[in-house]
Amino acid sequence: MLLSRQIKISGMKRPQLLVSTAFVFLVILLILNPANAEEPGKNMSVVTTVPPITNIVENVGGTYVNVVGIVPNGVDSHTFEPVPADAKTLAAADIIFVNGLDLEMPTIKLAEKVKKFDAPIVHLGNKTLRKEEWQYDFSFPREHGHPNPHLWPNIALTIKYVEIIRDYLVEFDPLHKDAYEANVSVYISKLKQLDEAIFACVKSIPESNRKLVTYHDSFAYFAPRYGMKVIAAIQPASFTEPGPREVIRIIEQIKNEKIPAIFGSEVFPSKIMAQIARESGARFIEELSDDELPAKPSDSFIGMMVNNMTIMSEALGGDPDCAANVDTRNLIH
Ligand SMILES: [Zn+2]
Repeated sequence: MLLSRQIKISGMKRPQLLVSTAFVFLVILLILNPANAEEPGKNMSVVTTVPPITNIVENVGGTYVNVVGIVPNGVDSHTFEPVPADAKTLAAADIIFVNGLDLEMPTIKLAEKVKKFDAPIVHLGNKTLRKEEWQYDFSFPREHGHPNPHLWPNIALTIKYVEIIRDYLVEFDPLHKDAYEANVSVYISKLKQLDEAIFACVKSIPESNRKLVTYHDSFAYFAPRYGMKVIAAIQPASFTEPGPREVIRIIEQIKNEKIPAIFGSEVFPSKIMAQIARESGARFIEELSDDELPAKPSDSFIGMMVNNMTIMSEALGGDPDCAANVDTRNLIH
């Protein structure tokens, strides 16, 4: 289109040329600022992956952003494969936010193929942590090359995600800068309230019980911030069940360390986990969540973390009301 325009311009008289130059200038402006310029007044289209990140983007974007999450609530995000309809969703996105750190590889591969040429794929985890800070462990062994991707249960890292999201929204939609900044200031104050509550919850747990045995290894970045220790995560790197020797080793460890409760998650049902609990004498609590948001009115990332802390504190001898004062509602209901 630009080329045929240029050819026409060369044959025009002076006033027309001025108008055309202005038109070309406008087109260049539109190209430089694609998000709100194509159709003024139309919301930006943002696509995300796992429900916690989707919910965080919704809270930062407020009423000016249409957010679609690709990974449905309650689905295992580690083995998730996008469906053909997701290609259409990704193709329409102005910005794509993913966790990265190898969590959503099939979705990112598809996004790279179908996305608009100027739509960035923002890897929040990779932008938040330097490579030296990546954690490898039993479920995410170094030799497989995929780090533990669960940064968001560590609220200091979540706040970095929020700031990165805000910067992208402002860059692509500067018209609503004030709104995004106002949302972020409210949301970060809620996250800080959550962060303080998590510290209080862990403090309420007797020191010798501040130990986590989980099925799914989602507390690797949480534990060092809040003063808990991940004793074992049971799910192997293949996301199947562990072998018998590993199971015996874990049972012995739970007995030796006198761990009162071990934790599973409904997204990852495990028969072995129930057996480990039976044989070690620990309670088996199957309700921790790293990416499944709870039901309304606490259907938020903050609500998910409050539930985790209530469950964890109660099971390990702490105060189950330790996070009761945290506001779990979303900015838009
Ligand atoms: Zn996970």
